[in-house]
Amino acid sequence: MRAFTDKRLLVATHNAGKLAEMRALLAPYGVEVTGAAEAGLSEPVETEDSFLGNARIKARAAVEATGLPVLADDSGICVDGLGGAPGVYTADWAETGEGRDFGMAMARTWRELEERAAPEPRSAQFRCTLVLMWPDGHDEAFEGVLPGRVVWPPRGAEGHGYDPIFMPEGHEITLGEMAPELKNSLSHRARAVAQMIGGIFA
Ligand code: IMP
Repeated sequence: MRAFTDKRLLVATHNAGKLAEMRALLAPYGVEVTGAAEAGLSEPVETEDSFLGNARIKARAAVEATGLPVLADDSGICVDGLGGAPGVYTADWAETGEGRDFGMAMARTWRELEERAAPEPRSAQFRCTLVLMWPDGHDEAFEGVLPGRVVWPPRGAEGHGYDPIFMPEGHEITLGEMAPELKNSLSHRARAVAQMIGGIFA
């Protein structure tokens, strides 16, 4: 595995929360983190059918636009009773044509489980794939998985996306009810970042 020795890293996300999280996690390694908005990047179309494929699309587009080493991620929720859906289409299930509606996406998730009479507990995983790509095109990938179950009705106003219907294994509250510090210590993204830091930055 290639070690990361550069001083600058572009994090290919327009999400301010994800950017702040990466900045804090990488600060101890002396890496200066730049975001996609600062670098004037647009978001490429995600045409692959895997988290890895879509993370690579984002990483490659940003490397080609900036010439910097890039960290990109793709994530979503995979529900076992739905054959892994929505998976890479997690954000698409919330699309209305006029912005994203996660209340609608969560309701669809539960409705489809009911229609299939999926057995309880309705197991699911949040997954995150990180791709670190160097300007020469070499990349290293890392995955983080958070197992849990889908519950209904939605609970809690913390977090984002599908958090109010996801109860992580070993907890009796949803991610939507969890203090951000706790969620950020156990999330799929935190697990992927820990893998990357252990393998590349240590
Ligand atoms: P992306 O990785 O930014 O493409 O996000 C994919 C979608 O997965 C997001 O729009 C969210 O709906 C969902 N998602 C990813 N991570 C989380 C999470 O930690 N909580 C809730 N939803 C998430």
